[in-house]
Amino acid sequence: MSFPLVGNNSINTSITNALKEHRLPHAILIEGEKGNGKHTLAFYLARAIVCDNENAPCGKCRNCAMGINHPDISVTAPEENKKNISVSQVRELKNEAYIKPHMASRRVFIIDFADTLNEQSQNALLKVLEEPPVSSLFILIAESKASLLETIISRCVVLTLNTPEKSQALEYIKSSTKYPDNEILEALINSRNNIGKALDFLAGKADSKTSVAAKEFLECFLRDDAFGMLTATAPFEKSRIETDSFFKDLKYFTAERLKQNPKDYRAVSLSKLYSLLCELEKSLITNINLSLLFCTLTSRAEQITGIK
Ligand SMILES: [Zn+2]
Repeated sequence: MSFPLVGNNSINTSITNALKEHRLPHAILIEGEKGNGKHTLAFYLARAIVCDNENAPCGKCRNCAMGINHPDISVTAPEENKKNISVSQVRELKNEAYIKPHMASRRVFIIDFADTLNEQSQNALLKVLEEPPVSSLFILIAESKASLLETIISRCVVLTLNTPEKSQALEYIKSSTKYPDNEILEALINSRNNIGKALDFLAGKADSKTSVAAKEFLECFLRDDAFGMLTATAPFEKSRIETDSFFKDLKYFTAERLKQNPKDYRAVSLSKLYSLLCELEKSLITNINLSLLFCTLTSRAEQITGIK
């Protein structure tokens, strides 16, 4: 079975080499926005870990035949109707981690939605990451590592997944679905080349909240409508992940608009907006207040349109 992600070449190389040389780290943190293949990669790694053959996952042995239902692959995620992974779930996982594997030579513990672990749960997890049982490996999945304690992050090898190039994403979707090219291209524009999101768009079940708002923001910017800009950003003031996605969408649409009409009289304003977005986006890794961030964005965007 070959590396399952489109693009992400450096991760492909390091994972493939680590698997070949049997030197996978004890803890891996996979981060990236929704739709970028975090789960695909986590399950590929899990299957490789429980496969005892060369070129793992070989896809042929009895371990591989069990897929992700293998008894040595366990997944911890928030329980139904709960927002967080509880500390008792982490304690349970810890106890399990010290028990010998059932079938394979190693066990894998996938911690999905690791960004929902509260501080107490993270500290409980830290103990097992600090003294990992020899035969257990941990894979944490999160949209962003920002909500994890530095002590947890430092125990993990962090793999940050990126969206592929448009041509790579197009080729992948073309080879795996029957949608016409023009529909795939439109979906890729809406999803900023994010394959998972593009597939959702194509299937008509897109979560396009941030991209709709980003398009709306851009239209308001072009007609110098400050109130409209603020209204477009308002739904995201409580979510750092959505804000991050909104910024990425808006940068993408701004760049696309510039590419389509480089001679447009608003090109200067658009490129200033793009620089502003790059500058403000950096503050997202700090603890900035999101409504303040959006106010700054709107007032500085207004200044740009005011001097055009
Ligand atoms: Zn195998």
